[in-house]
Amino acid sequence: MPDSPPAAYTIQSLARAEVRSLAPYNAGLSNEAVRRRYGVERIARLGSNENPIGPAPGVIEAVTQAARECALYPDAECQTLRAALSERLDIAPERLVFGNGSEDLIAILARVFLDHGDEVVTMVPAFGLHTLYPQSMGARVIGVPITAAGAIDVDGLLGAITPRTRLVMFSSPSNPVGSALSRAEIERLLAGLPPHLLLVFDEAYFEYGQLADDYPDVLALLEASRQPWVLLRTFSKAYSLAGFRVGYGIVSDPVLADLVDRVRTPFNVSRPAQAAAVAALEDQEHLTRSLANVATERARLSAALAAAGLRVYPSLGNFLFLALEREADAVGEALLSHGVIVKTWREPGFTHCLRVTVGSPADNALFFEALMQALDAPVRGSLADASH
Ligand SMILES: *Cc1c(COP(=O)(O)O)cnc(C)c1O
Repeated sequence: MPDSPPAAYTIQSLARAEVRSLAPYNAGLSNEAVRRRYGVERIARLGSNENPIGPAPGVIEAVTQAARECALYPDAECQTLRAALSERLDIAPERLVFGNGSEDLIAILARVFLDHGDEVVTMVPAFGLHTLYPQSMGARVIGVPITAAGAIDVDGLLGAITPRTRLVMFSSPSNPVGSALSRAEIERLLAGLPPHLLLVFDEAYFEYGQLADDYPDVLALLEASRQPWVLLRTFSKAYSLAGFRVGYGIVSDPVLADLVDRVRTPFNVSRPAQAAAVAALEDQEHLTRSLANVATERARLSAALAAAGLRVYPSLGNFLFLALEREADAVGEALLSHGVIVKTWREPGFTHCLRVTVGSPADNALFFEALMQALDAPVRGSLADASH
């Protein structure tokens, strides 16, 4: 559907129509911006699902070494990282793809597979880039709402598929809700998918999901199906490497990796990022400690919020999704004035919701107190002891 030509030439008119109509990504404010704007010193940074524990000590050493080699381009094939992951996952090296964060892989998949008029089926509320990157390619995104209980609606996803669907793409554990598909649901999804589309299963919160006894082995379930699929994971969350930008995908067929290679920039994972990921993988004890913080703090925080009468969705991620009885944006502003950064939701139907990262005990306490003040709620539960 070509737009009518603009009356006067503007810089915007040079851009593709799909790009002109894109909503900006809601990346949230930097700590500096919050300090400046609200005159607060202490910041509880709980808007981007970052890991308050930080990386394994070996990561800093590895990156320092890599910094000495910064005159050299990185390995375009990520061979050391590829070999390490191939062994850990028991997946052939040619079935791995790497990105400048897994978001890079989402963008690449959109460029490889989507054309004007194609359709993408995802869930609502959605991880923003599952929507924005397909739209930037001219695809139509069909969002299937979560169920009333906050579950990913398998039948809804299957029912939204048409002959024009190219990708079915969602996260499980889902961002922002935190719910995950069960083994039976994944089997039902795989059994119902027609063969003409690619399933992009975003498992960015895989390591957190594994804390739950009944969390399914998604990779094994996908391996058992004949559907073409990509399973996305990242070093940004549980491994604390968000600032380095490194994510990976496991693909059902090396042909998919070859297609990704044609479209990606050749050196898309920097030298320090590759070194950091290899070192992070080597320290599984550090990973275990950082997961333990989330398990303990998530339980405490969600119990306190529920005791204060708030609706908290059950979450397998390092975050909680809350449904308020009013628009979340005003509450988000009030939290910012206390130095607390959360992500208020902007998708229609969910503008009364906010997502808060499970942070350090002190940050969670600051969030809880600020939220109670912002909502003017009687504090029944308390996280007060957490600030010590
Ligand atoms: C955080 C996140 C990502 C992006 O991770 P990067 O590897 O940092 O790009 C992808 N998908 C979901 C669902 C996420 O929450």
